[in-house]
Amino acid sequence: MRYPLSNMNGGEWQIRREICDVGRRMHRSGLVAGTDGNISARVGPDRILITPSGSCLGMLDPAAISAINFRGDAMAGSTKPSSERWMHLCAYESRPDILAAIHAHPPTVIAMTLAGVAIDPCALPEVIIAFGRVPVTAYATPATVEGATVVKEWVGRFDALVLDRHGSFTVGKTLYDALHKLEKLEHGAHVIYMAQQLGRIKSLPPEEVAKLASLREQFGLGSADDVSPSCLPPGTAIPRVTRGPENY
Ligand SMILES: [Zn+2]
Repeated sequence: MRYPLSNMNGGEWQIRREICDVGRRMHRSGLVAGTDGNISARVGPDRILITPSGSCLGMLDPAAISAINFRGDAMAGSTKPSSERWMHLCAYESRPDILAAIHAHPPTVIAMTLAGVAIDPCALPEVIIAFGRVPVTAYATPATVEGATVVKEWVGRFDALVLDRHGSFTVGKTLYDALHKLEKLEHGAHVIYMAQQLGRIKSLPPEEVAKLASLREQFGLGSADDVSPSCLPPGTAIPRVTRGPENY
């Protein structure tokens, strides 16, 4: 089946191919199963590409990716967009700095919410630098506008969210940026899960967390204040450095 591809330039075609590649990687890595999950990218002032409703992310066709406007309406000739588009639209509304968003069902992340176990916010240096902390949203019925309601509180400030009983939501400056955050989130959750099987998790000392918070800021990944206050008791000084390494 062919779909009319009006309003598509070479750049958009490339983004469509990237959405398919990211979907294949997610499916292969077990970050989604069956027709779970959805991927989007902002490609214009009022144009967002998003995976079609009921599609398997491992088997996407670039021509069949849906195109919607900021009200969530499918553009003329588009396939039917994902029912989770409200969550994605909320992210683009709140974050002019991001161009991509991914909702996935990473198993360890979901299992931890079912068991009511938090991803320890003071344990993994890489997670602290990359995310500050990872908020867990309230529960929302999947595939409804409630998805936007629960992410709205957090997505303006945090790049990786855990959706209670449902999965993850990561945003980024590119599709691969959002994918790498998803991979890092599930990997971090899995490491914490394994450590919990082995015994009590040893948190980093506050002064070490403070150094990581400072690095987060230096690398331009977000504010040092995004780190969980539970890791930084009152009086812990965060080293403030205005210039640092350019890349992380
Ligand atoms: Zn879902």
